[in-house]
Amino acid sequence: MVRAIFDTYTHRRLGSKTVAAELNRRGHRIRSGRPWSAHQVLRVITNRVYLGELTFRGNTVTDTHTPIIDTTTFDHAATILEARGESHAHRAANSSDYLLTGRLRCPRCGHAMLGTRATGRNRTYRYYTCFTRARHGTTHCDFDRLDADSVDTTVMASLAEFNRTRHDLTDQAINAHNATTTPAATSAANSPPSPPTSPKPNKRSTATSPHSRPAP
Ligand SMILES: [Zn+2]
Repeated sequence: MVRAIFDTYTHRRLGSKTVAAELNRRGHRIRSGRPWSAHQVLRVITNRVYLGELTFRGNTVTDTHTPIIDTTTFDHAATILEARGESHAHRAANSSDYLLTGRLRCPRCGHAMLGTRATGRNRTYRYYTCFTRARHGTTHCDFDRLDADSVDTTVMASLAEFNRTRHDLTDQAINAHNATTTPAATSAANSPPSPPTSPKPNKRSTATSPHSRPAP
């Protein structure tokens, strides 16, 4: 399927809209069961996962798995994409992503770390910033901002390493997940009980956002 999309886009030179229409006409659907859209087609032909890479916001880890598409075909598609002017619209749709949004906690005050950005002279810098610091300033929490590019790359590298080497743990996790999500399953012993709501570490915070929950 992925190879067919690349082939249609590069050799037959059809635009993403036409490629999507043709996929739908042949009865293909995306994973969720919905019809293909131009945006979905663009997501496929710009996805470096098919080159055997893991990429997040320009940070790339190579050789994580067997490639489906060779570099020549991928670059060819990228050239056509640029020439058609389809690349800009696609980029704008994904501009605000942070890999670890909602998954990092401030080690100092326990609040969530948020994706933030600062515009420098030549480029935009991405950070993970403590919620307390972002909202109330450094007098309330002075934990340093983390460079988001470095954090994302490091996490992706360990993820890739994990993917390559720990198939045993991956299988265990999938089995455990299937066991707890199957209605008939009675062995939910492995899943931890949800902790009772604990008091907020920062009493001055009036925030009620999901980011204000302290780490257990
Ligand atoms: Zn903090």
